[in-house]
Amino acid sequence: SNPVLTVDHLQTHFHMEDNQTAKAVDNISFSIFPGETVALVGESGSGKSMTALSIMQLVAKPGRIVDGSISLNGIDLLPLTDKEMTAIRGKEMSMIFQEPMTALNPVFTVGNQISEVLRKHLKLPKKEARDKTINLLKTVGIPRAESVVDEYPHQLSGGMRQRVMIAMAISCNPNLLIADEPTTALDVTMQAQILDLLKDMKDKYQMALLLITHDLGIVAEYADRVLVMYGGQIVEESPVAKLVESNKHPYTKGLLESLPSMDVEVDRLGTIKGTVPPAHQFPIGCRFSARCPYVMDKCREVTPAMEKVDSNHFIRCYLYEKGVSEHDS
Ligand code: SF4
Ligand code: MG
Repeated sequence: SNPVLTVDHLQTHFHMEDNQTAKAVDNISFSIFPGETVALVGESGSGKSMTALSIMQLVAKPGRIVDGSISLNGIDLLPLTDKEMTAIRGKEMSMIFQEPMTALNPVFTVGNQISEVLRKHLKLPKKEARDKTINLLKTVGIPRAESVVDEYPHQLSGGMRQRVMIAMAISCNPNLLIADEPTTALDVTMQAQILDLLKDMKDKYQMALLLITHDLGIVAEYADRVLVMYGGQIVEESPVAKLVESNKHPYTKGLLESLPSMDVEVDRLGTIKGTVPPAHQFPIGCRFSARCPYVMDKCREVTPAMEKVDSNHFIRCYLYEKGVSEHDS
């Protein structure tokens, strides 16, 4: 089948006051297919949210998409007008955020907010929109849907609010759902419930799901493929089943080592020293070079390219560069 979403050489830059350019999203490419969950992982500041906002075309000034293309079901989104994008956002593709309180309007009932989306995109009459809203609330597992429909966001728990957000996001049956750290603000039990719900909805409606998280544990359990992002670039693309293999980007390895696991003492957890460089101060060469335990001289000179190491598995690192190591080692 054809991909739902294709991102091709996307670049989103921020022009800073001092004339520096922050390359928040620097030349990234990937696709997502119907029914597939692709996880976008990396520490905060690696460009994940900016990638999502770019796809939705919600990048705030002074940020700007400067190059590349984004296509949804074969339609090139970047040339579209604001009005055309407004018709697509919430209908063909939706996004949910970490904190639903910021996305829900506190002065309207949850029912009014979902109905509004249905009336706008599907032109449903009032009564039908309300009935469909109640059904949607039931679909996402909200008990007492008939009364919750008339409640305000602050009357609901964090988990219930996130369910409301999911109901709103899927209300028009989008092809693509983007979930940006959808469970980071929730406790562990609630996290699993919300992720299970997202998975069920994805399967039920055959959506493509772009799941943004910093948690590789979530990736292992819920995603089909993973894109590891660092310094505005994708540094590894891999089927999730291959994440445990020895072939991994050193950054991915670091992320995996910082995962808690049952048989590892908490104080022995590996963590990657240092922080993601800010997007206007990327080092020359490999962006991970300042933190990489395997760093070589050439890593600090030229940015490595993505290399195919296996079917569907790509790594951006000189350790995996083909046909070069025998010449310059
Ligand atoms: Fe480390 Fe060099 Fe690979 Fe970058 S290119 S991840 S610095 S070994
Ligand atoms: Mg983020």
